[in-house]
Amino acid sequence: MRTATERALGVHRVLEPVGVLPQAARRLDPDAPTGPDEVRIDVERLNLDAASYRQLHEAHGGDGAAVRDAVLAIVAERGKMQNPVTGSGGMLIGRVAEVGPASPLGLAVGDRVATLVSLTLTPLRITDGLARWDGHGEQVPAQGTAVLFARSIAAVLPDDLPENVALALLDVCGAPAATERVVRRGTSVAVLGAAGKSGCLSVAAARDAHARRVVGVVRDEREAAALRAADLAHEVVVADATDPLAVAAALGEPVDVTVVCVDVPGAEHGAVLATVDGGTVVFFSMATSFPAAALGAEGMAADVTMLIGNGYTPGHAALALDLYRRNAGVRALVDPRVHP
Ligand code: NAP
Repeated sequence: MRTATERALGVHRVLEPVGVLPQAARRLDPDAPTGPDEVRIDVERLNLDAASYRQLHEAHGGDGAAVRDAVLAIVAERGKMQNPVTGSGGMLIGRVAEVGPASPLGLAVGDRVATLVSLTLTPLRITDGLARWDGHGEQVPAQGTAVLFARSIAAVLPDDLPENVALALLDVCGAPAATERVVRRGTSVAVLGAAGKSGCLSVAAARDAHARRVVGVVRDEREAAALRAADLAHEVVVADATDPLAVAAALGEPVDVTVVCVDVPGAEHGAVLATVDGGTVVFFSMATSFPAAALGAEGMAADVTMLIGNGYTPGHAALALDLYRRNAGVRALVDPRVHP
């Protein structure tokens, strides 16, 4: 018999090894009836994590049918979509089919939702053999069922935004939320990768928090022009985020808060060097290396607080969607990345 906390985390659905959390499990049970604290979703589409899809695509030499078979095999074997090589998953879209009477998620039958917890811990059963997917691309039309626990998170998809825009925003909604948490009136802020999706949302969140100086650091003149046209940052500078001296030189005065939103490894030292003693670095990028950040700060005798950008902050989804709706500049930067 599991405690309420264990159930809320989904431990009761772990088949192997018994007693671990669902993310660490080799196998979950996607077939048990919906529990009183659970929600069942009729799956419409899986969004495979980019790193996972790339690995499968390369491992099968670009053979779509083989990639599809591999995804089906993983889900059948594991009861969840967790790539055993990359360890990563993705998220899914679907419609709420059943809500247990004790579920605290606030969802109603019929809601169209995007799950904001990883597929690596979401019990999943596929029932259509992925017949509508050719095995190419991260977006996988799928039929099946998924289960949310009491401590899962899902966002109701907004009616007023295209589905792919909403998904892109929900994917990175932790970045503006983390920025909002650390920026105060009068703070100076640098955002590395400021013309990207999470970057421009973070710039907009810093402006909303009344930051004194918000500097967008971008890779090249093309991105600089786009960010200037978006009229979000106070300053826009061009520097390779992986070149610490270039970042520091481009910024001039170090800032109180640096938010790392690039999608490449190697930005740790530039971020530390960009930040004043006593300041804060938010590492939102998944390409961040813990040893590079920790040893880099030590090596520079930099007294900075370093935060890992948690993908979850209460209210993060609504915040990102709202920033997109209210800022033409955010829309101008996000839309081309969603509709290439
Ligand atoms: P994105 O839209 O592709 O933005 C990344 C930006 O960084 C782009 O503008 C890119 O420029 C720029 N960039 C790349 N290399 C650079 C360099 N050397 N110097 C300066 N700028 C550079 O990506 P995103 O969707 O916002 O995601 C950003 C990061 O967040 C990824 O690492 C992702 O894994 C991570 N993420 C974290 C979480 C979490 O929960 N913590 C959740 C989702 C995503 P180009 O377009 O010119 O390459």
